[in-house]
Amino acid sequence: MRKNTRKNEGNVMTEKDTVIKSGWSLESSYGLLPNVFFTRQNPTPVRAPKLIILQHSLAASLGLNAAYLNSEEGIAVLAGNRIPEGSAPLAQAYAGHQFGHFTMLGDGRALLLGEQITKAGKRVDIQLKGAGRTPYSRGGDGRAAVGPMLREYVISEAMYAFGIPTTRSLAVVATGEPVYRETVQPGAVLTRVADSHIRVGTFQYIAKWGTDQELRTLADYTIERHFPEIREDENPYRSLLREVIKRQAILIAKWQLVGFIHGVMNTDNMALSGESIDYGPCAFMDTYDPATVFSSIDIHGRYAYGNQPSIAQWNLKKFAETLLPLINEDKEQSVLQAQDALSSFHELFYSSWLTGMREKLGLFHEEPQDETFVNELLAMMKKYGADYTNTFRAFTLDKLEDTAFYGTEEFSAWQDKWLARLGRQEESKADALQLMKEKNPAIIPRNHRVEEALEAAGHEDYSVLERFLRALSSPFAYSPEQEEYAAPPDSSSCPYRTFCGT
Ligand code: AMP
Ligand code: MG
Repeated sequence: MRKNTRKNEGNVMTEKDTVIKSGWSLESSYGLLPNVFFTRQNPTPVRAPKLIILQHSLAASLGLNAAYLNSEEGIAVLAGNRIPEGSAPLAQAYAGHQFGHFTMLGDGRALLLGEQITKAGKRVDIQLKGAGRTPYSRGGDGRAAVGPMLREYVISEAMYAFGIPTTRSLAVVATGEPVYRETVQPGAVLTRVADSHIRVGTFQYIAKWGTDQELRTLADYTIERHFPEIREDENPYRSLLREVIKRQAILIAKWQLVGFIHGVMNTDNMALSGESIDYGPCAFMDTYDPATVFSSIDIHGRYAYGNQPSIAQWNLKKFAETLLPLINEDKEQSVLQAQDALSSFHELFYSSWLTGMREKLGLFHEEPQDETFVNELLAMMKKYGADYTNTFRAFTLDKLEDTAFYGTEEFSAWQDKWLARLGRQEESKADALQLMKEKNPAIIPRNHRVEEALEAAGHEDYSVLERFLRALSSPFAYSPEQEEYAAPPDSSSCPYRTFCGT
C-alpha cells in the first residue's frame, strides 16, 4: 500500500501536543486516488460532545489508548471537533441501486478520517458517521441520532461476537445538539471501523462517471487492499469478481444461519471486503418465516429474510457489470466470463449454509439426504411458528420438550432420523452437543431487548445497554445471565418494525 504523503490540510487544531499518547497511526491511501473518488471535507464541530460508549478491546487492538479516547481531546476527535494527526478527512463518492433504482449517493453524513495502521499492521478505515454535511448530503442534515447509532453499535458488536464479518463500532458520542426526524432526538456521532468502505456502489459510481483508467485504478486499489494474493493472477479482475462473490456467499450464509435480516441490501450497502455494513433497519428474526421483513420502508418485501441470497446475487451482477471493461477487451468474452463467475454464487452460498446447518444439528459429516433433512426441520418451524434461535438452543441444551413442535408426529419422525444420523457418526453425543454449543448462539439481540436498552439510554441510563452488551459479547457461553435474554417477545410487540429515520 502506498504511504500517505498528504497530511491534514484543514486549519483545525491537531493533537500533536497532546499529553496522553493517543496511539493514532493514520494514513490516507484512499486520499491518493484521483479526485473523482472523494471530496475533502472536515467534520462540522458539535456543541457539547459527551462519550456515551467506547469499545475498549477494539481500541486496544487498533493501538489506540482508551485513556486518551476518554479524555477531552480524545472525545473531541470522536465528535469531529478535532482532527487527529495524520488525518485528511474526506467524503467518499459512490452510487447505488436503492430498492432496484440507480441513484448517485456518496457519504452524506460520514467522513473518513483515514486508515489506522493497527498494532498487527493491518490497515482499517476510521470513519465518523453523523459528522456533518458533505457535498453528497442532498437534502439531509449530515447528522445521526443517538438511538440509531447505539443500535448500530449493539448489532455490529453482536455480529462480531457471532464471528460474522462486520464493520465494528468503536464509540458513540452524544453531540449535545438536537436532530430533527419524525421527533426531535439527541444527536450522536458513531466511530465506525471497517476493513474498508469500498462498496459495490463505489464501482458503480466510477463505472458511470469515471474513465476506464479510473475504474482500473479502483480495481487495482481494491485488489491491493483486500485480495493481494490475486495480484499476479492471469486475469486479476476476473479473480476480483470471483473473490468478492465468494466472500459475499459466505457472508450471506452466515446471516441466514443466525437469522439476521439486513433490511436494506442496496448495492451501496454491500462492502467488497465481505463485511456486513450499514446497520439501518436491520433486525434478527424471532419466529421462523422466510417472508420476515422488519423495515418499514420495504413495503414489497424485497429484502425479506428468504430473499437475501438472491438479492446478494443481484447486487453481485451489478458489480460484475462494472467490471466488464476490465475483464476482457472483447465484450462478449467479458460477459461470458462474468456470467460464469456469477453462476458460482449459488453453490458457494448453499454449501456454506448447509455446512453451517449440519453443525447447528451436531452433524460432523455430509450425507446425501442432508438438504431434505434440514428443509423438513425448517418446514416444521414455519408450520408451528417456532422461534428460530430457541429451537436450536433447545436442541443444544438437549431440551427437545421446549420446542414448538415437540410431541407432534412429524417431529417424532424427524427426531428418529436425527438420532439415527447422530448414531452413524463416530463422534459421541457429547461431541455433537459441544459442536452445537459452539454454533448455536444462546442469545441474539432481540428487537424488544434492543429497544428496551435504547429506551433507557434515551433517559441517560446506560446500565441496561451495558448489561445487554456484556451478555451479547459471548453469545455461545450459555451462562445463567443470558437466560433472561433468550425469551422471545410477547405477541403484543409483534410485528416489529424498524425505521429508516436514522
Ligand atoms: P443509508 O440508507 O444509511 O445507506 O444511506 C443512504 C444514503 O443517504 C447515503 O448516501 C447516506 O450518506 C445518505 N444519508 C443518510 N442519512 C443522511 C443524513 N441525515 N444526512 C445526509 N445524508 C444522509
Ligand atoms: Mg448506506
